[in-house]
Amino acid sequence: MSAPRRFFVETIGEESLLSGEEFRHAKNVLRLSAGDEVVLFDGSGAEYSAVIAGERKDGFLLNVTGKNVCEREPNADVYLLTGALKGDKTELVIQKATELGVNKIGVFSSRYCAAYLSENKTERLRRVAREAAKQCLRASVPEIAVFEEFSAALRSAEGYGNRLFACEFLEHGREVLPLSGSCALVVGSEGGFSREEFALAQSLGFEGVSLGKRILRAETASIALLSVVMYGLGELR
Ligand code: SAH
Repeated sequence: MSAPRRFFVETIGEESLLSGEEFRHAKNVLRLSAGDEVVLFDGSGAEYSAVIAGERKDGFLLNVTGKNVCEREPNADVYLLTGALKGDKTELVIQKATELGVNKIGVFSSRYCAAYLSENKTERLRRVAREAAKQCLRASVPEIAVFEEFSAALRSAEGYGNRLFACEFLEHGREVLPLSGSCALVVGSEGGFSREEFALAQSLGFEGVSLGKRILRAETASIALLSVVMYGLGELR
């Protein structure tokens, strides 16, 4: 028999309800029914085994039978700050960053940023993070924060042991690796950064890093930098 299917539920008690989109998916697509075993997670880092006990109009009633520690959670503490990107590129970055093991994602607006941020959009980004966590078997969902002010985004990284700023016009940067401890990473949007924004970041303790002599697209830059950092922190081995 294949592994039990995983579902995200807002709150998990001894009895829980699988409702909304997750319920419709379980019932109509996966054709689950009473007696089937499932795994539940609420984004907090633990997983629960459960059995579908019955069906109501608004969802499956679940009997939670056990709690397990998820072994797929990252040990690294990595925070990615990305400029808001056009179209569905921010969603792409959130999906990939979640798979690669970030704990937190900040989306910011900055001087040359052309994409807008809104409540609806933020809700969609959170859903993307949940879906990605579910798919890659993580039990915690990265927190998504949105910043209208670039300086507030930078300040939200206070306390991280390493603060790296991917700067496309950098002349002398630090090497990304070796690296240890917690890590905040800043990557710009399609429009890139202004000199003033980089200077502000430096004054707040960020170190500039280069991603080589070619200019990468914003989404490529986030995924490339995160991959290197996660490798350096032992998460991709
Ligand atoms: N429009 C800008 C490029 C922006 S690229 C220009 O024409 O110069 C988007 C973001 O990806 C940048 O702000 C930076 O954070 C990151 N990035 C892309 N290529 C990079 C490189 N070679 N080194 C460091 N960061 C890079």
